Amino acid sequence: MLETEALDVEQVRADFPILTRKVRGKRLVYLDSAATSQKPKQVVQALVDYYSTYNSNVHRSVHTLGEEATAAYEAARERTARFVGASPKELVFVRGTTEATNLVRFAWGERFVEKGDLLVTTLMEHHSNIVPWQLLARSKGARLEYVGLTEEGTLDLAKLESLLKESPKLVAVTHCSNVLGTINDVEKVCSRAKSAGAATIVDGAQSVPHMPVDVARIGCDFYAFSGHKMLGPTGIGALVGRKELLEKMDPFQGGGEMIKEVFLDHSTWNEVPHKFEAGTVNIADAIGLGAAVDYLTGLGMSKVRDHEVKLMRYAMETLNALKGFRSYGPSDPSTRGGVLSFNLADIHPHDLATILDEEGIAIRSGHHCAQPLMRWLDVAATSRASFHVYNSYDDVDSLKAGLEKAGEIFKV
Ligand code: PLP
Repeated sequence: MLETEALDVEQVRADFPILTRKVRGKRLVYLDSAATSQKPKQVVQALVDYYSTYNSNVHRSVHTLGEEATAAYEAARERTARFVGASPKELVFVRGTTEATNLVRFAWGERFVEKGDLLVTTLMEHHSNIVPWQLLARSKGARLEYVGLTEEGTLDLAKLESLLKESPKLVAVTHCSNVLGTINDVEKVCSRAKSAGAATIVDGAQSVPHMPVDVARIGCDFYAFSGHKMLGPTGIGALVGRKELLEKMDPFQGGGEMIKEVFLDHSTWNEVPHKFEAGTVNIADAIGLGAAVDYLTGLGMSKVRDHEVKLMRYAMETLNALKGFRSYGPSDPSTRGGVLSFNLADIHPHDLATILDEEGIAIRSGHHCAQPLMRWLDVAATSRASFHVYNSYDDVDSLKAGLEKAGEIFKV
């Protein structure tokens, strides 16, 4: 790739005021974007603009502020939908990925799943793509089965095929693992699941922020993601669903705005996506998400992806050379997203994270809301460094120096 086509990290960093702060007297090295990303000033400004110039409720008032807020909210929906190759009618604003999977559990699952049905998920899922299906299976008397993993940390496709022979009702799979970094071939999984008659839901929490995503090409029924991991505010995310399916589903919550008409004994529903957005919606944060989408679009998602692959390659080369370093997931950086989970000898990840914090380095330690995967890996916890557009080779070097220091302290 030509150097001119690469992401200009210095220029990007200038948009993130938080990166200039010091932590414990050191330069902040933020390597926890998989938990939540930092926000560029353009996103913060969009929130300030909304609250200071046109704060108003949406879809209700005919006054100027109300119309401006409605237009901005719907424009944010339009841009967010286009960003992932969907139509705005198919995009429901939710609190995040967790609310999206729970929406499907209730609005789709309670309607379509029956006693004895099979639901399928995988061993590499975040709890938000496991627990809702456990609850659904319990309430309906359905069965939940898991697709296991290969040594390399990819999906065991033979197991998937054998489960598909049992005609499951649902296949739930992550696009990119928040622990292993594995990018799954969700296009293939969805196409195979569809041939077996299953509905599909893809967890895009770790993919939409980091790579070009086209839900139409993936061919899933539902696709879920969170705004706060893609440079947007917390409390906002999206569920993209096939329009015909959204139309057939029951509402998620009842209340204002999701109805067409309310009688004493029954109600009729607003058109999708509004049928799923009961009450006053999260207007400001949806507008903030629209600004994040503009920011990422301005950078170009292919450039974002290339940048992260380069950074991951450098990180894996640099850190794998450290004594006692063990990373998890695929060995080829070009098949991984922006997360690198690891352990350093037998140092507890929380101790490691505490030592790194002394150096101004923020990583995550723990089970990453993926306890079944931790058990499969046979570890109680891992450390995890995760990248985004503002991370540089310098950040990787700082992490390496921090890990060396931890190694000295613990005599690795
Ligand atoms: N799925 C994956 C792969 C994640 O990494 C996360 C968050 O870490 C989630 C789902 C849940 O996202 P949220 O907490 O924004 O609902």
